[in-house]
Amino acid sequence: MKTISRRETFKMGIAALAGAGSASAGISETHAQQAITQTPFKVDPVLIPIAGSKEMFPVRRIYCIGRNYAAHAREMGSDPTREPPFFFQKPTDAIQYVAPGKLEDHPYPSLTKNYHYEVELVAALKSGGKNISIERALDHVYGYALGLDMTRRDLQRALGDQKKPWEIGKSFDHSAPIGPIYRTASLKNFSKESISLSVNGVVKQKATLDQMIWSVAEQISKLSEANELFAGDIIFSGTPENVGPVVKGDVVLCKLDQLPDLTIKIV
Ligand code: MN
Repeated sequence: MKTISRRETFKMGIAALAGAGSASAGISETHAQQAITQTPFKVDPVLIPIAGSKEMFPVRRIYCIGRNYAAHAREMGSDPTREPPFFFQKPTDAIQYVAPGKLEDHPYPSLTKNYHYEVELVAALKSGGKNISIERALDHVYGYALGLDMTRRDLQRALGDQKKPWEIGKSFDHSAPIGPIYRTASLKNFSKESISLSVNGVVKQKATLDQMIWSVAEQISKLSEANELFAGDIIFSGTPENVGPVVKGDVVLCKLDQLPDLTIKIV
């Protein structure tokens, strides 16, 4: 079966409307197009500031890889040597932009009593495709950011135990705090950079990016086997071991070599 893209559907809609119009009220295609591009209400795009630019990065989809550092995979109860990568998504409005040098309030979410931090490198795509090779994968990266994959761990675990989707544990408002996107041209290639997270000045997570099980290039390649990737897609690349809880009042400081610190206060 031929798949129909969103753009083709849009064109078909305009043609149908124009056709219907010309047969009855005599609406031109231009008028039909105006009618179709008007929406009954406004939905704001989700945008992330780009460092050193007046432009903003428009977010299309948020992908996250699970258990991508061996020690974290073990602490989550799986064997990192045998499992293929798996991915999940967050809604785009999970994005909470945190400006560098600012202590941003981050709301403790509803429904959880065990709210966890996960510090992660985030790759932001400028292009995409299907079945992207590992060798060409990084050609699609626009830039990188430092982010947090905040998690209602109790719900994630309980729903997983019940063999239900653990989406509500991962995909909720404000669950993806993120700093500005730095374009690849302004960075050296990430290799053994140190990534860390501390709570109230005590280091909790610390690793180097070369400890990832699946590299960013491999993640892009694998994801593109499941879904066509597009400009605007961003990928949270997994967290090191020693995830843990925060409570209201905690200050969470995230660090990644080459990028500015990201700091939130749980409120
Ligand atoms: Mn994560």
